[in-house]
Amino acid sequence: MFITEIFKSIQGEGTRAGLPCIFVRLTGCNLRCTWCDTAYAFHGGTKYSVDEIAEETDRLAGPGGHRVTLVEITGGEPLLQPETPALAQRLLAAGYTVLIETSGERFVGSLPAEVVKIVDVKCPDSGEPDTFEMANLKAIGPQDEVKFVISTRRDYEFAREFARAHRLTERVHEVLFSPVFADPAGAWPGLEARQLAEWILADGLPVRLGLQLHKVI
Ligand code: SF4
Repeated sequence: MFITEIFKSIQGEGTRAGLPCIFVRLTGCNLRCTWCDTAYAFHGGTKYSVDEIAEETDRLAGPGGHRVTLVEITGGEPLLQPETPALAQRLLAAGYTVLIETSGERFVGSLPAEVVKIVDVKCPDSGEPDTFEMANLKAIGPQDEVKFVISTRRDYEFAREFARAHRLTERVHEVLFSPVFADPAGAWPGLEARQLAEWILADGLPVRLGLQLHKVI
């Protein structure tokens, strides 16, 4: 497998935000979101076997009583690499809770059922609209999360209508609305979290506002 980095940090997003977590970042992505903050993972990477990734994860997880038990497979787009389901299975077998972050463009049904799938639906102003694999709606369930990264009012309205049309809050554990975080170098603008919060409250949406905790820390 091609790996950009394996590291331990604090989970920044989703319902496990704030928990210690090991991240396995796979190299390569077939999309080009305008606000992508992991473009460094598009190319290159170091070749690892599934066993080598599991060994490095175990090393970072630490010993016995204080072992980190949460692992996220991310990217790039992790579902582009054919061994990703085998990697997830290997980490599950080692006793980890395994999360996967995916763009939603690839079918997630090839992953082991126990994997917590955090599936994006790309909004119009991401630059990658209409890329969501609709078959994923049948492959996600009560432990999974659907995430919309929102940069404009148009994105917000798209997310609101998509979530309603497909009854997402009934299908998955949590629907996440996350504002785009402005690029520190000015390459793309952000959306104020307060603005998104006001829209969510005005419409009474049963979604979770997601802030990227790792960017704060
Ligand atoms: S899908 Fe993710 S990694 Fe790929 S371009 Fe979009 S934000 Fe970046």
